[in-house]
Amino acid sequence: MNRMIRAGIDADAYRHNLRRVRERAPRSRVMAVIKSDAYGHGLIEAARALEATDAFAVARIGEALALRAAGIACPIVLLEGVFDQADLAAATQASLELVVHMPQQIELLRAAGSAQFRVWLKLDTGMNRLGFKPSEFPEAYTALSRLSAVRGAVNLLTHFSCADEPGSMTSTAQLNLFERTTRGLPGERSAANSAALWDFPQGRADWVRPGLLLYGVSPFADSTGKDLGLLPVMNLTAPVIAAKQLAAGERVGYGGIWTASHNTHIAIAGIGYSDGYPRSLPSGTPVLLHEERASIVGRVSMGMTAIDVSALDVPVQIGEPVCLWGPGLPVEQVASKAGASPYELLCGIGRSSYGRP
Ligand SMILES: *Cc1c(COP(=O)(O)O)cnc(C)c1O
Repeated sequence: MNRMIRAGIDADAYRHNLRRVRERAPRSRVMAVIKSDAYGHGLIEAARALEATDAFAVARIGEALALRAAGIACPIVLLEGVFDQADLAAATQASLELVVHMPQQIELLRAAGSAQFRVWLKLDTGMNRLGFKPSEFPEAYTALSRLSAVRGAVNLLTHFSCADEPGSMTSTAQLNLFERTTRGLPGERSAANSAALWDFPQGRADWVRPGLLLYGVSPFADSTGKDLGLLPVMNLTAPVIAAKQLAAGERVGYGGIWTASHNTHIAIAGIGYSDGYPRSLPSGTPVLLHEERASIVGRVSMGMTAIDVSALDVPVQIGEPVCLWGPGLPVEQVASKAGASPYELLCGIGRSSYGRP
């Protein structure tokens, strides 16, 4: 019997989505964001499928080193930069490009010896997470640009906080601040994440930094990847591990929060919150069984989820796969049922423990 949860990955979908990004931002180069295990899709596989990108971006150095160890030769930008001498030595070995977002990182580079890096100085335009404030920026820029460890011009980066709200004035204000603060400087510029590159053309600049779009998923609440001409990369399936009949009045699962109103066929899927299928998903959340929609019922358990399969045309077999999200069932729709974002659901899929098709 098939007992595997599978997060199947469609490499052609990755390539298609990268082409869609290039069509949408034809004058920008692409820094493909594959941090956090490529949003749960598997880091190395993502990098191989997206080899036509101009650069990759990851947040933490471990992922950058894993890419190099797998033979990925493309430029890699370290979005959080380095935190100590050991990071700097590893970054030298791996020829990483470094984001510099705080004074300590300038000091590290000052002591870098003969190593040289392409650097991205980060301006905080209102996200208030990483980066120098506009008032601190000129001094940081001057200090950084004088270092022998910096190869070429200091490149310039910022990050939008509200780009997934189309028409948000916040993006306009952030972009104006970025332009004002960096005016006349020679470096290349990067600002837009997926939402901004899609819907805020002014923000595209020299380099766009898409993550979510490359996985075939929409960053906007009112659309799916398909609406944007993208193809979902992940197809998440789990096997049916049991099936049973309930009489009217019987209840399902912990807390008995769902009651059968009539005779009901139930299938139990072998996936639960320990596998990344959120416990917050309510009864009524859709799943697919042989292309037909059915709904989960009762509370999602640690490793199991009940499904009402009464309305299906074809009887359910033990071992057959249930699709939790994928090309036929947008993760955006599932996420909205949980009151969560698709980012969160995808990242919750720890692929290493799953089988591959
Ligand atoms: C994660 C991240 C991105 C990509 O964001 P998406 O919304 O997935 O496109 C871009 N830039 C930075 C700095 C990030 O941290």
